[in-house]
Amino acid sequence: MRIDVLDHGFVELMTAYGSDLTIANAARESHGGHAHTEFDRADEALIKQMGRASPRHETPFRFVGIHFRLKWPIFVARQAMRHNVGINWIEKSLRYTKKKPEFYMPSGMEITRLQDAYHEAESTYQKLLEDDVPPEIARLCLPLGTYTQCQAHFSLQAFAHFVALRLDVHAQHEIWLYAKAMRQIASSCFPVSLEAILEK
Ligand SMILES: Cc1cc2nc3c(=O)[nH]c(=O)nc-3n(C[C@H](O)[C@H](O)[C@H](O)COP(=O)(O)OP(=O)(O)OC[C@H]3O[C@@H](n4cnc5c(N)ncnc54)[C@H](O)[C@@H]3O)c2cc1C
Repeated sequence: MRIDVLDHGFVELMTAYGSDLTIANAARESHGGHAHTEFDRADEALIKQMGRASPRHETPFRFVGIHFRLKWPIFVARQAMRHNVGINWIEKSLRYTKKKPEFYMPSGMEITRLQDAYHEAESTYQKLLEDDVPPEIARLCLPLGTYTQCQAHFSLQAFAHFVALRLDVHAQHEIWLYAKAMRQIASSCFPVSLEAILEK
């Protein structure tokens, strides 16, 4: 499953680890219950109850995870990578790759100066590479609007925390769009659990 975001970006599901049933069975372990083999209404009730519990019982939500591939501008990746607990990040290196850079242009805006700056940056980058400047140095002229590619693995608890902060009205529009696409994908993998843990 893949959702396009912005002018050249996307969110793609790599793998979902476990399911709503995994979470219910992890929770059952704590009070000695037998694991279920099929997800049923008791599992659903248990997960919803954990989401509502005060204090919250969130450990079972760490027993599953979701793994995304993301293509996004550097400034969005930088905001996202501030989230670390329960998350593993890996980013494509411009030290080892010499890809033609792609740049984010906000839609509906005629920002000629931004376009000019992107052209200038791209041409400087290519010239530096042609002059055999190492890619890890040539990349220094690329701006925050340059696209980068990452993979991220979240525990479901960490994912819920990420989504709650980045779908907030105060989040910048661009990361908000990525969080929305990521939530749509994660909801299809963990339909009961994600809603339960996001319930405040
Ligand atoms: C709208 C918005 C605006 C922002 N603006 C800025 C900004 O201007 N400048 C800026 O630098 N950042 C900014 N941030 C980033 C923000 O401060 C967080 O770094 C980021 O949202 C990651 O959240 P987190 O620390 O909860 O995540 P994680 O690092 O994944 O941590 C998850 C949770 O673990 C616990 N935790 C993590 N580290 C510690 C610790 N050292 N001690 C105790 N508990 C810990 C906390 O409960 C934390 O909520 C902004 C974030 C948002 C959503």
